[in-house]
Amino acid sequence: DSPAEKYEYQAEVSRLMDLIVHSLYSNKEVFLRELISNASDALDKLRFLSVTEPGLMKESLELDIRVQSDKDNGVITITDSGIGMTRQELVDCLGTIAQSGTAKFLKTLKDSKDAGSDNNLIGQFGVGFYSAFLVSDRVVVSTKSPKSDKQYVWEGEANASSYTIREETDPEKLIPRGTRLTLYLKRDDKGFAHPERVQKLVKNYSQFVSFPIYTWQERGFTKEVEVDEDPAEAKKDGENGQTEKKKKTKTVVERYWDWELTNETKPIWLRNPKEVTTEEYNEFYKQTFNEYLEPLASSHFTTEGEVEFRSILYVPAVTPMGKDDIVNPKTKNIRLYVKRVFISDDFDGELFPRYLSFVKGVVDSNDLPLNVSREILQESRIVRIMRKRLVRKAFDMILGISMSENREDYEKFWENFGKNLKLGCIEDRENHKRIAPLLRFFSSQSDQEMISLDEYVENMKPEQKDIYYIASDSVTSAQNTPFLERLVEKDFEVLFLVDPIDEVAIQNLKSYKEKNFVDISKEDLDLGDKNEEKEKEIKQVFGGTCDWIKKRLGDKVASVQISNRLSTSPCVLVSGKFGWSANMERLMKAQSM
Ligand code: ADP
Ligand code: MG
Repeated sequence: DSPAEKYEYQAEVSRLMDLIVHSLYSNKEVFLRELISNASDALDKLRFLSVTEPGLMKESLELDIRVQSDKDNGVITITDSGIGMTRQELVDCLGTIAQSGTAKFLKTLKDSKDAGSDNNLIGQFGVGFYSAFLVSDRVVVSTKSPKSDKQYVWEGEANASSYTIREETDPEKLIPRGTRLTLYLKRDDKGFAHPERVQKLVKNYSQFVSFPIYTWQERGFTKEVEVDEDPAEAKKDGENGQTEKKKKTKTVVERYWDWELTNETKPIWLRNPKEVTTEEYNEFYKQTFNEYLEPLASSHFTTEGEVEFRSILYVPAVTPMGKDDIVNPKTKNIRLYVKRVFISDDFDGELFPRYLSFVKGVVDSNDLPLNVSREILQESRIVRIMRKRLVRKAFDMILGISMSENREDYEKFWENFGKNLKLGCIEDRENHKRIAPLLRFFSSQSDQEMISLDEYVENMKPEQKDIYYIASDSVTSAQNTPFLERLVEKDFEVLFLVDPIDEVAIQNLKSYKEKNFVDISKEDLDLGDKNEEKEKEIKQVFGGTCDWIKKRLGDKVASVQISNRLSTSPCVLVSGKFGWSANMERLMKAQSM
């Protein structure tokens, strides 16, 4: 009989537990969602690993989650038949915070100065296992991994800096495989053990878990029972001369306890899109991706033919924490299933190019092998076709937002993900036609509201051939540039490229609807109104002045020329046709510093 061994938590864990308890005190009920999500992950892992190691499933157990609650004693147990944990895994998983979800949570708290006041923000993160201590004084985790022949018990208490691990010796408590968590609720939180409350929480927060979740519920049924007749009645009858006892039937309610299936287990993406409501899509999104805000758009589709798969994609309403992750392809935003078995959410550009890595969703394929590996994914022709279709659908979805009657929706999208689309102009030539109509810019005629290239083209003058732009560091400085003068005079609209990436993006696009993008700060700007005769005349008059200025400036300028591009300013510095624009030069300088 091995005694319990004591372990200290990694320092961050104690801090994390403290933070969780302090920042989520008003949102305690998330604990159940977190623990059920861990149970579901453990089942997913088992199902996935057993494809290549069938021995893991040798205990023929249903893959399910059972939540039993004892309201009189304030105890909740959550049991799954998943992958379980070995002794070492208990130490690694429940004693340190190497895990992704919780690490992200910690980072957010660090990033936001006044985290404690923003519970809503924190609510969107998976805070993980330690949320059990939001409501529990003591947590016991008894777990049996199919990789180990022993079952181990992890035990921890709220506000403690250590935990213990021992071997399970009580034969009554042995389980064939998986994990059983027992929560001993705090005095004030015992209400969570009310079976109806558990049922409601599961329905609200874990509706879309794809394994059955059973809760232990009291039920009743009515039945007719024969009872002896009331003695008073019998006496009355007796007066009438009938002496033998009479039987009578009565309806009674029998009470008993049983497991009740509490969630819908058919994955939402397998349902007919006509029968799924927007609320259900949004709820699925929030539960699957631990999001707090509803998505901006969703798209549910099936593709048939060469490659068959089903998918639901979403555009989030906000950018992920930390702007630097904007184009991080390792977002865990796409969950890949093969024939309903969860395979992976760890992609690096295989299913979406990195500039679209903000798109979230699930993809379920019938054509990939269940034991699909990273190498297979990268080489698979099927995956390439899937990627093409997914990207197309993502663009359709974004286009849908841009056509929404509510202009604010697209403004919100653009503010969050505009940079990603501009990056797409640079990295994804193949999709230029899809990206270009989605771009937005300020212009000389619209400095408050951004316009699309379509709006620009519609507003072009009949004699105007090109799409004009000026790159600058702000709308104000673009408005004040002398380069604008002649164009304003002719009523030609000029796009203001004020985001550093804009200019490169536009240069990559080269043209839109057969109209070239033209930088108005470059030499040789042709506004289609050249008058050769007049130019010759002016050159004769001012040629000497130009030579004189060039002499004075020497190497500081490449040449001094007479131009027709100004109307009120006397002169302007322009860039050479093939050189960098002034804006680019500024950016390059800033980068090399
Ligand atoms: P996350 O789920 O984001 O990884 P958690 O704090 O929720 O973080 O869980 C930490 C780790 O503990 C999990 O990654 C998993 O390895 C392990 N774990 C938690 N619950 C279970 C369970 N029911 N079965 C097996 N492993 C579990
Ligand atoms: Mg978790």
